[in-house]
Amino acid sequence: MSVFEHPEFDHHEAIHFFDDASTGLKAIIAVSSTALGPAAGGCRRWRYASDADALTDVLRLSRGMTYKNAVAGLPFGGGKAVILEDAASPKSPQMLRAFGRAVDSLGGRYITAEDVGITIDDIRIVRQETAYVSGLPQSGEHAGGDPSPWTAQGVFLGLRAAAKTRLGSDSLDGARVAVQGVGSVGLHLCKLLADAGANLVIADINRENLSRVANTMSVTEVAPTEILFADVDILVPCALGNILSAQTIPRIKARVIAGAANNQLSAEIDGERLVERGILYAPDYVINAGGVISCAREYLGHSSEDQVREEVNRIPERLTKIFADAERLNRPTNKIADELARRIVANASNGAPATPDTLRIA
Ligand code: NAD
Repeated sequence: MSVFEHPEFDHHEAIHFFDDASTGLKAIIAVSSTALGPAAGGCRRWRYASDADALTDVLRLSRGMTYKNAVAGLPFGGGKAVILEDAASPKSPQMLRAFGRAVDSLGGRYITAEDVGITIDDIRIVRQETAYVSGLPQSGEHAGGDPSPWTAQGVFLGLRAAAKTRLGSDSLDGARVAVQGVGSVGLHLCKLLADAGANLVIADINRENLSRVANTMSVTEVAPTEILFADVDILVPCALGNILSAQTIPRIKARVIAGAANNQLSAEIDGERLVERGILYAPDYVINAGGVISCAREYLGHSSEDQVREEVNRIPERLTKIFADAERLNRPTNKIADELARRIVANASNGAPATPDTLRIA
């Protein structure tokens, strides 16, 4: 398997392969960049069709974390871990501890957290072997714990900024909003949107999650296959990635897309497809950074919830700047965000640190 010629390889600093025969752990940890600080990003456990698919995923996800942390103004680089799920070696406390030792062996260059397939309880076990973890429940007024309410709060504020830019008002009173996926983030977000007076259309493949929302507020349910194409002002993807593509974009009626899901664009060029359709896209890793801000403050310690709130409140102004640069330069918002992230990292590497708020894309 070629690594350096891999299409997703983007000068990652290190890729570590771990094999623990006694527990069946097979894991890859990719350190995309430590220019801004230790490489932070969650651990995903997934049944990959092949080792090559796992490598592709970890390379792509770790670079995404570099971009997300950079544009959120956090003192962290980007990294990610994947554990290769295998029926012959089920997840066990021993396996999670072996993963903890793998993380620990990197001496703090990589900080892990939960992601798809890894729960808070799993991270508690990983924590028995290493201090390089985040996303654990906190007590008192300290920041941390479940990041999804913070992600929802950031998306809510960013969505209003996007509405103001494209629809002329940040009032959501009477706005028609479609939410795809009402899991952890979607549930919190629906409450915020309903309180703001939005008319909600929702879809989920999980009946229980749908009922949790439908039983507490007034919503219209549509089939999961129809939610992207609902007749609404704003589309809020909070389920899966790869949903905005050459196949789906021509049928979307919303004029704004602003949601929590990671990797919403199937390919970079889909950003241009959205521009051609007159749809304003809030780059996913910019608008969904609330959770990572909370995890970062938890890891750094001595941070209050008020400090997290203050940082999450900056998400809309950063988005508005990206929208303005995209308009001025006639370029898609996803490309502006990527360039901003790359420049923050390059500046840090060159010893000339810059923040997302001081850099200007020309
Ligand atoms: P979740 O698993 O709690 O919720 C996802 C929901 O989407 C589930 O209810 C699931 O049934 C539903 N879903 C799956 N496929 C669907 C489909 N085809 N159509 C409709 N619904 C579908 O996850 P979450 O924590 O709420 O995260 C949602 C998204 O936001 C994910 O893409 C995640 O990577 C991203 N994200 C989450 C956070 C966070 O703090 N949790 C932070 C950043 C990004």
